[in-house]
Amino acid sequence: MLKEAQFYNKLKDKVVQCKLCPHFCVLNINEIGKCRIRKNNNGKLYSLSYGKPVSINIDPIEKKPLYHFLPKTFSFSIGMAGCNLSCGWCQNWNLSQKNAEEFDRDYVSPEDLIKHVLKSGCPSISYTYSEPLISYEYVFDVAKIAKKKGLKNILVTNGFINKESLEKIAGFIDAINIDLKSFNEKTYSNFCRAKLAPILETIRLVHKKRIHVEITTLIIPGLNDSSEELEKIAKFIASVDINIPWHISRFFPNYKMLNKEITHKETLEKAYKIGKKYLKYVYLGNV
Ligand code: SF4
Repeated sequence: MLKEAQFYNKLKDKVVQCKLCPHFCVLNINEIGKCRIRKNNNGKLYSLSYGKPVSINIDPIEKKPLYHFLPKTFSFSIGMAGCNLSCGWCQNWNLSQKNAEEFDRDYVSPEDLIKHVLKSGCPSISYTYSEPLISYEYVFDVAKIAKKKGLKNILVTNGFINKESLEKIAGFIDAINIDLKSFNEKTYSNFCRAKLAPILETIRLVHKKRIHVEITTLIIPGLNDSSEELEKIAKFIASVDINIPWHISRFFPNYKMLNKEITHKETLEKAYKIGKKYLKYVYLGNV
């Protein structure tokens, strides 16, 4: 099932420009965006992942990670294919670096998905594993019904989204975990094909909207583990709110970074100490 996308402009000669995320992809007929799941079909932009969750699990909410929102509950978790970033260390590259057509999945309507969530007894639904906001139309439709049924909606996102798109869905979102991968524009551009500034904007905006927010940083040896950079991350989070929990996560070699070492325990301890200088809640993950 193809669903016409929100947030795009029709240009000349059936070319379209997607405005969902800061890539602003310009697509000729039959071209697919950087996220792999938004396609120009004869002059209209379509989502290829609508109704196609490729991973469904019931997870402890702490696995998102969210430690300060509905603790000790389980969250009905779904993931769709694709991502608008391409981080070399991605821990979910089997989903994020593939397109929806590589997965042979049955269509699940938003209504049917919600029936499964209600049957599971989970009080929340998490849009997670890869980047959920590029599957905007499906997440939006599911989240709307979920809200009506009294379920909480949780996004686990890289935060690389345009303000207009985020503002439209914000009213349906109760909690969010945002990856702040680095505080260095070069790291974002060289390793993720993205930019830092829009992600900082997302963090500020969701906090302003009073959505519960927690931040995660995967600490990768030699890439984002200098005291200076960790200090910048912690200071930025504190500038938004010292009560925002910061999850410092241990890296394990994966995807294109199989030659890197696992994050040393001493590095994690250093990051924890730096975090605690500025923030009330700092947690170590993957240890
Ligand atoms: S959501 Fe996808 S198609 Fe749209 S601008 Fe971002 S990467 Fe490009």
